[in-house]
Amino acid sequence: LFIVFEGVDGSGKTTQSRLLGIWLRDQGYDVVTTREPGATKVGMRLRAILLDSSHQGLSPRSEALLYAADRAEHVDNVILPALRRGAMVVSDRYVDSSLAYQGAGRVLEMRDVARVNAWATGGLVPDLTVLCDLPPEVGRGRFASPADRIESEPQDFHERVRREFRAIAAADPDRYLVVDATQDMDVIARQIQDRVREILPD
Ligand code: C5P
Ligand code: MG
Repeated sequence: LFIVFEGVDGSGKTTQSRLLGIWLRDQGYDVVTTREPGATKVGMRLRAILLDSSHQGLSPRSEALLYAADRAEHVDNVILPALRRGAMVVSDRYVDSSLAYQGAGRVLEMRDVARVNAWATGGLVPDLTVLCDLPPEVGRGRFASPADRIESEPQDFHERVRREFRAIAAADPDRYLVVDATQDMDVIARQIQDRVREILPD
């Protein structure tokens, strides 16, 4: 079982993926919680390049390719090995982040971003994606630390990102759960558990 969390910065994806991991482990499942970008050794270096605020002129296409490279590492060296041994994988971000940030945010051709990522992932699609949906300005207000290169993008960039996430989720309700991420952490966690329970193996 492969479950992904998506959403704008500050939407609580990281918290919720951790809580879901704990809940699943409590039930005896072997769970690997992971994240993008930066789940592998090479991925950590790609993450540093991608988030470095001094890389101002980074081309949107190279940005998309670097995220895709990180994702290929993630799939081949973390996600697939875990799934093959029968573990569950819970990932903080996956392909939809690239459709939202590089496709909608950077205004790249959506078809190109989708194609590059289909290749980067070998076509691995999550069983369920949880969208932690939140107005970007609310998410923005949740972190005090200095913003990375992408968090520093203007409001309209983050609005496009959010809109794209919602559009992707709305197009495939069977494979997406949209939660209102302005709610209390525990309320959100329960909504997620209720949905995940439906797809758990016996
Ligand atoms: O989720 P996390 O904060 O670790 O992501 C790191 C940064 O990379 C965030 O600012 C996020 O907005 C950005 N990002 C992106 N494109 C992706 C994935 C993440 O711009 N495909
Ligand atoms: Mg962030």
